[in-house]
Amino acid sequence: PAALLQRRDTVFARVQEHYYAAPPQIERGWKHHLIDTHGQSYVDMINNVTTVGHGHPRIAEAARSQWSLLNTNSRFHYEELVRFTERLAELAPDPLDTVFLVNSGTEAVDLALRLALTHTGHDTVLAVREAYHGWSMAADAISSSVADNPRALETRPDWVHLVEAPNAVRGKYRGLQSAPHYLSDLDGDLQTLAGDGRTVAAFIAEPVFGNAGGVLLPDGYLAGVYEKVRSRGGLCIADEVQVSYGRLGQYFWGTEQQNVVPDIITIAKAMGNGHPLGAVITRRDIAERFADDGPFFSSAGGSPLSCRIGLTVLDIMRDEGLQQNAEAVGRHLKRGLERLGERFDLVGAVYGTGLYLGVELVSDREDFTPATAVAAMICDELLLRGCIVQPTGDFKNVLKIKPPLCLSVASADHFLLALEDVLGVLTT
Ligand code: PMP
Repeated sequence: PAALLQRRDTVFARVQEHYYAAPPQIERGWKHHLIDTHGQSYVDMINNVTTVGHGHPRIAEAARSQWSLLNTNSRFHYEELVRFTERLAELAPDPLDTVFLVNSGTEAVDLALRLALTHTGHDTVLAVREAYHGWSMAADAISSSVADNPRALETRPDWVHLVEAPNAVRGKYRGLQSAPHYLSDLDGDLQTLAGDGRTVAAFIAEPVFGNAGGVLLPDGYLAGVYEKVRSRGGLCIADEVQVSYGRLGQYFWGTEQQNVVPDIITIAKAMGNGHPLGAVITRRDIAERFADDGPFFSSAGGSPLSCRIGLTVLDIMRDEGLQQNAEAVGRHLKRGLERLGERFDLVGAVYGTGLYLGVELVSDREDFTPATAVAAMICDELLLRGCIVQPTGDFKNVLKIKPPLCLSVASADHFLLALEDVLGVLTT
């Protein structure tokens, strides 16, 4: 493995990092397990893309049979595209009824921004601090996590305006009742923008604060923001790339948790279970206005293969009750993590819902000092105990727990025992 890692580091751009200083070489995946070249298996607590699990035979068979039958692009007319877009439109809340198909979350976000700028004719996009929305010029411009780029806040282009991160646990205002304070700050932002002659094209945010580790937004936050943005003629974009598709257990869409309907939804990751799929779902009038400026085409977006895989993922989720499993196993896991929080001072907070959970590690519970180095050490120790998990957030001190939705109670317990063991070792 060392020689192979060296070859990887020689040819693959170093900025595309790998987990762990000495990573296991992964050879196989099965359900929520990954198996290395020594036959060691790990519970995969991090893979939010492989929603229905690794190595799913139904996906392998769908891909094989579609490849041998037909794969082409969306300028041709074929049934898979119609069935998949109808299915997505059915899942989306009213009045969102029109679908664009692309290949990734970044592309979906980029397209959503273009739709909003075109529809409104306005010039400014509001995004929350500490968020991540993708890597293209536009998606990167609205991503401001200082953990990823320490100069993020100073280097945003003119068309981006960052608003306070609505983090109800460690943000400027705390608690689920803190929305009015964040909204009052937003009023100030909007006034400043208007004073500068700037107009709001869109507000974009994840409906659950993913990059911070799955922190729920303050109650009523999105409803308040959407109302203010819409009253200025802007559109509201929900970046559901990470948190949707049943991962939250009780909710298929993250926006359900906040009781709002956006104007534009972006999705990806879970849609293809690892096959590159992304989509934008919006209202017909927004899509029509975009069409006035010329056609849109993505060579592989919406291919028969992609649509077939997308349909199969949704079939598996339904047939195997994976959203329900996310709710049940997620509740069990969260309760276990909260119990660890009662015993170990290192655990400052437990976030999230369903199988999108976060464990904030702090060295001081009073002032919430991030335990960044300890978080990294815990992840290394968990690897030795057969669990793969990694830290997130601006301080890289939140264990981000987002396994395949087929996670079993037994594997959740394996993870809880391993974490208990590591926390015990670290605090004695
Ligand atoms: N939006 C969010 C919220 C994301 O988490 C990500 C990926 N981490 C993206 C957009 C970009 O998606 P992709 O990596 O598929 O381009």
